[in-house]
Amino acid sequence: MNIILLGPPGSGKGTQGELLAERTGVVRVSTGDLLRDAVGKGTSLGRRARSYMDQGLLVPDDVIIGLLREVLGSPAAAGGVIMDGFPRTVAQAEAVDALLKEKGGAVDAVLLFEVPDDELRRRIIGRASQIGRTDDNVEALRQRLAVYREQTQPLVDFYRGRGILVEIDAVGSIPEIAERVRTGLDA
Ligand code: AMP
Repeated sequence: MNIILLGPPGSGKGTQGELLAERTGVVRVSTGDLLRDAVGKGTSLGRRARSYMDQGLLVPDDVIIGLLREVLGSPAAAGGVIMDGFPRTVAQAEAVDALLKEKGGAVDAVLLFEVPDDELRRRIIGRASQIGRTDDNVEALRQRLAVYREQTQPLVDFYRGRGILVEIDAVGSIPEIAERVRTGLDA
């Protein structure tokens, strides 16, 4: 089972991804976590990724696609993956298709976490204040939302056209949304 979690920053897809991984036993992979780890360790990947991440920009596709090859080709991913934070561009989506095909797999479902814009803005400001609000933080989060709209949102139509998009109303309590995810995947 290969599942993609799609949604803007602040949509709660990371939390739901963790719950889904616990419930199904399918491994969750987050490129954001892998990149933050690489930055922390000061690896060459981390050194290349850092300034993009600090600015709320996407790390270039050639860097990410190398990482995806490693992750999707690993033995841990043999039973499928829950993809959190990737693909984020059409080029990455095409790379995911090709890499899964090499293993005889495919993307089975794409969960789209939908949150209205005004609610997202409230969450972004709230999150920035939790992590020690500076205008830089607010600005970086706004930037990430703009990048999502521009570069990642096109994936919604990409997957809808294939009939594998599952839209999830992502406003509500964590258990309520987890229940919608469960029903959406069963349907
Ligand atoms: P996330 O935790 O998924 O929001 O990712 C944090 C940051 O890591 C993003 O703002 C990007 O700079 C970078 N990043 C994570 N995943 C990707 C990806 N698939 N493609 C490009 N950049 C990414």
